[in-house]
Amino acid sequence: MPIAMHIAYAVLAFVLGSIIGSFLNVVILRTPLHQSIVKEPSHCFSCGHRLAWYDMFPIFSWIFLRGKCRYCGEKISPRYMIVEAATAVLYCLAYLVFGFRLELAFSAVLFAVLVVLSAIDIDRFEIPYWCSITTAVLGVIAIFVFKETPWHERLIAMGVIMVIFVILVLVGGMGGGDLQLMIGASLLLGYKVFVALFIGVLTGAVYGTVKKLRDRSDEKEISDKLKRLAEEWYQNQLDQNVGYVTEGHDDIIVGSISEGDPDIEWEFLDENVWRGLPDKAKLSRELRKNITDEREGGFKIFIKGDKIERVKYSRRMVFGPFLGFGIATCWLVGGHLINWYLSLMR
Ligand SMILES: [Zn+2]
Repeated sequence: MPIAMHIAYAVLAFVLGSIIGSFLNVVILRTPLHQSIVKEPSHCFSCGHRLAWYDMFPIFSWIFLRGKCRYCGEKISPRYMIVEAATAVLYCLAYLVFGFRLELAFSAVLFAVLVVLSAIDIDRFEIPYWCSITTAVLGVIAIFVFKETPWHERLIAMGVIMVIFVILVLVGGMGGGDLQLMIGASLLLGYKVFVALFIGVLTGAVYGTVKKLRDRSDEKEISDKLKRLAEEWYQNQLDQNVGYVTEGHDDIIVGSISEGDPDIEWEFLDENVWRGLPDKAKLSRELRKNITDEREGGFKIFIKGDKIERVKYSRRMVFGPFLGFGIATCWLVGGHLINWYLSLMR
């Protein structure tokens, strides 16, 4: 194929990717809300003005409008543009790597799924079930159509991934959704899935460290507030003689904050070591009234004897986008990465 033709197809893949990306934005926003994907016309989320076609031009509309609504001037999240650009770049890379081979069709589905699950994971801290299923279906088809990776390699990879993930989920940080995704990915990638996991964990850890530093003062503030409220409540319980006095026992209150709404999982509290029944509703009420942090986070309040010993609060971290990045990288160039690494060993 002449080089000019090659470039034309690469540009076409980019444009097609950006259009698919703008459709994915709709999927990302509406599927978690169980809204129809096609029924409602697109509109500004701030002023409700219906968008014209030139407002919905992938990537470029956002750039030309400088990230603001044409009608009300309200800021539009760069997320829409990022989703479109990411899909466009991935589609373009898929063409450059695979040309018009069957892998290109796989890439089109896989990359769309990875972009969607990354964004939904960031929004809602969960990877939709259908995204993991779709990845797994691609993996199962791959067993039959891409025989250069033998089926037993894919199954062994899947088994090992499951063992690794049991540990990762127990240690904390990763969730069940991450495991489901990686099971599908191991069928699709074979041993390359370990490189994908490595890339995902590594980039995730780098981001996690940056985030920890950035969030540190906010986290401190919220955890101090939690501690103060818990202390007031606990002192009140002690005064009412329900407070917990059993020597040598520690107790713990576990909860999470989601969309500015603290929620306590009371089943973690061991009421047997309390003198009376703690007024659980009172603490829930106090927290709801005073803590309105919009970011997702979890907390633990440690009680020891007659005082609140300490409070641990941290904002939650997602791994979906990083695993997705690892999977996409290994799907595209995983073989090259492994060969390059092996050549270093020689
Ligand atoms: Zn508007």
